[in-house]
Parts: sequence; structure tokens; C-alpha cells
Amino acid sequence: MDFNFTDGQLMLQKVAREFAEKEVEPISAEIDKTGRFPRETFEKMVEIGFTGIGTPVEYGGSAGNDIDKVIVVSEIAKQCAATAAILSIHSIFAQVINKFGTKEQKEKYLTQVTSGGSLAAFALTEPNAGSDAGAAKTTAILDGDEYVLNGTKCFISNGGQAQYLLIFALTDPSKGLKGLSCILVEKGTPGFTIGKIEDKMGINGSETVELIFDNCRVPKENLIGKEGKGFMIAMTALDGARIGVGAQALGISEAALEKSVKYMKERVQFGKPLTALQGLTWYISDMATKIEAAKWLVYYAAHLKATGQKHTKEAAMAKLNASETARHVTNLALQIHGGYGYMKDYPLERMYRDAKITEIYEGTSEIHKLVISRAVLR
Ligand SMILES: Cc1cc2nc3c(=O)[nH]c(=O)nc-3n(C[C@H](O)[C@H](O)[C@H](O)COP(=O)(O)OP(=O)(O)OC[C@H]3O[C@@H](n4cnc5c(N)ncnc54)[C@H](O)[C@@H]3O)c2cc1C
Repeated sequence: MDFNFTDGQLMLQKVAREFAEKEVEPISAEIDKTGRFPRETFEKMVEIGFTGIGTPVEYGGSAGNDIDKVIVVSEIAKQCAATAAILSIHSIFAQVINKFGTKEQKEKYLTQVTSGGSLAAFALTEPNAGSDAGAAKTTAILDGDEYVLNGTKCFISNGGQAQYLLIFALTDPSKGLKGLSCILVEKGTPGFTIGKIEDKMGINGSETVELIFDNCRVPKENLIGKEGKGFMIAMTALDGARIGVGAQALGISEAALEKSVKYMKERVQFGKPLTALQGLTWYISDMATKIEAAKWLVYYAAHLKATGQKHTKEAAMAKLNASETARHVTNLALQIHGGYGYMKDYPLERMYRDAKITEIYEGTSEIHKLVISRAVLR
């Protein structure tokens, strides 16, 4: 067993940390306040190669693996969870096309999303199909050489900004879950419009929208994988995406701890720094221990995925644990900052709000408990 980063991973961590401090942090409060999608930061992430991690170089990728993704996403999340979410969700598209796409699809789309500057989205959720993704009602019926899409997807991250979207729709509604397929839709396709833009509690720079399909026709070549394999594709993608959410939660937690340590050394009450108050130092012990445990579960899940091993249970455990840790740690960090932590002048209240989403998207904590218990009890 080796718990150390390689020299290459240490270098990547340094690059990602510097990038996040220089390019991400300066606008993090502004995009939280305004809800503006940080297109310029996305373009810089393309330029530096972060959008290509995990995709072969022949398709414009920057190679690397799932551990590298965790390193980058967690460093970005330390400065801005919304920007980390944009990158993490964007990378699901390349992961799906790389695993399930044809050679033609890889050639046509992968370079676009890894180094070409096109943003991507993943659309599974519907108004009546959240945790129960198999209850999806959106249809994609073959008519000649085209699929005709009808229905609504909701809560889709990057959806309003993306050039390419993976839509999960029923190509054979009579088969229910077994009739679900994965279809690629491009921005601007007639019949595809953006509906409500959500007003959220946190990760405000990561736009979340409704997608509406009204007789939207796409070429039949846009089917990803085989008809009826959509649910399997979605669940495979989510196994990887959950490691990404774990990385987001880990970054938020690490930053909250770093800020708490700094604040406790600087803030003086009763004539002494807060570090002299034993009650608060126990908060620090608690935070540091939980973060260390979360870190190793996230990296272990990433290691399993990177080495081609089964990781469904471990990805669920990593996400469940890291997201609960992020909520707990940001709560304590805010408490350590007292009234200042509650003010928007300090980033703690944003981190506290941002942490909450990690317990909800890419599967809720309750769903992860289902996934884990099923695997353990099998
Ligand atoms: C900001 C944001 C961004 C998102 N981005 C995307 C995206 O890019 N793409 C996408 O497809 N989706 C996205 N989602 C959707 C997200 O994945 C769903 O919100 C999530 O899966 C939960 O579904 P739901 O909101 O319908 O809640 P519900 O499924 O209605 O759940 C309500 C409650 O019931 C619990 N529950 C449900 N079923 C069970 C069960 N069997 N056992 C125990 N408890 C259960 C849940 O855990 C939850 O507490 C996003 C959501 C948000 C909020």
C-alpha cells in the first residue's frame, strides 16, 4: 500500500492550487452573489487542461486518471464549490462518451469537450423522477432516421450553457426502465429550449436549469450505447460522478479547516487567541479527523475506478461520508468565526451553503445508504 502522491500528482496539486487561488478565488463571492456563470474561468480550465483529465490524448485529453481529477476538483472547491461543480459535472460527458461512444462519436465530440472549449451537461432528473430515476417520462421515439424527443428535465447543472447534453429518454416507453436510452442533444437544436433558471441556496455560479423538449429531432446517430441501456449508462456515470462530489466536499472541508486554524490564531478574546480555548481546539481535532477519513475514502474510490476495479459501493461511501463531513465541518468552522462567520464579508457562510448540495445531487445521502446496504447485505 502506498498513501503518497507521485511527483506528478504533487506537481498537479501545486498547479491546481495556484490556478484556484489566482483565477477562481477572486470571483468566487461575485458569482455567488449574482449567479453569473463564470464562462471565462471555464475557458481557462480548458486552456490549462483540466477539462481533459481522464480522456486519452488522441481525443484532445490531457491523460491522467480519476485520482488526478480528485486532486484538481478538490483544489478548486477550496476556493469556489460552484466552479468545482461546473468542472466535475462537465467531465461526466467525456467519461460516458469515452466508455460507451462509438469511434465516430469519440472523434466528433471528445476533442470538443476536452480541449475545444465546448461545455457539457448530463440530464437524468425529471420533475417526477429524482431519486427514482427509472420513473423518467421523457420520450425519444425513432421516426425514420431521427429520434423525436418530448418531455422535461429539471435541475440540470450546466444545462443552459452547454453545447452538448446527454439526455436520458425512453426509446421504448412500453418497457419502462429497460426502454431508457442515452441520447446526445446539441444546443440550438429546434424543439429544445431552456425553461426555468433555478434560484438556489448555494453553488450559485453553477447554473441549474430546466430543459424542455417539444418534438425535438436529433439524428439517430446521436444514440449513445445501445437502445435500452440508458439506465446502466446513467448509473455507471453516477458512480464516477459521486467521486467528483466527494472531491468537492473534501475541498470545501479542507478550506473550512484552514480558515478556522488561521482565524483561531488571530482572533483574541479574553486577552488570548482562540487557540487557548480548549473547547474550540476540540472542534479542530474533530474537523481534522473527519476530513482525513473523508480524504482517504474519496481517494480509495478514485483509485479503484482508476485501476478498473468495481467501485459502486466505495464511491457511494466516499460521497456519503465526505458530504456529511463537509456539512459538519463548515458548521463548526462558521461557529469558530462567531458573528463574522455569519457575514457575507467572510467566505464561511457561502461554504456552509455550498456544502449542503453535496448531500443532495448525484444521489442523496439516503440513496447512498441504500446502495451501500444492498452491497453489504448481498
Ligand atoms: C443544484 C442541483 C443540481 C443538480 N444537477 C443535476 C444534473 O446536472 N443532472 C441531473 O440529472 N440531476 C441533477 N440534480 C438533481 C438531483 O440529482 C436530484 O435532486 C436528487 O437526485 C434527488 O432527487 P429529488 O430532488 O427529486 O428528491 P426526491 O427523490 O423526491 O427525494 C426526496 C427525499 O426522499 C428521499 N428518498 C427518496 N427515495 C428514497 C428511498 N428509496 N429511500 C430513502 N429515502 C428516499 C431522498 O433522499 C430525499 O430526502 C441536481 C439537483 C440540484 C439541487
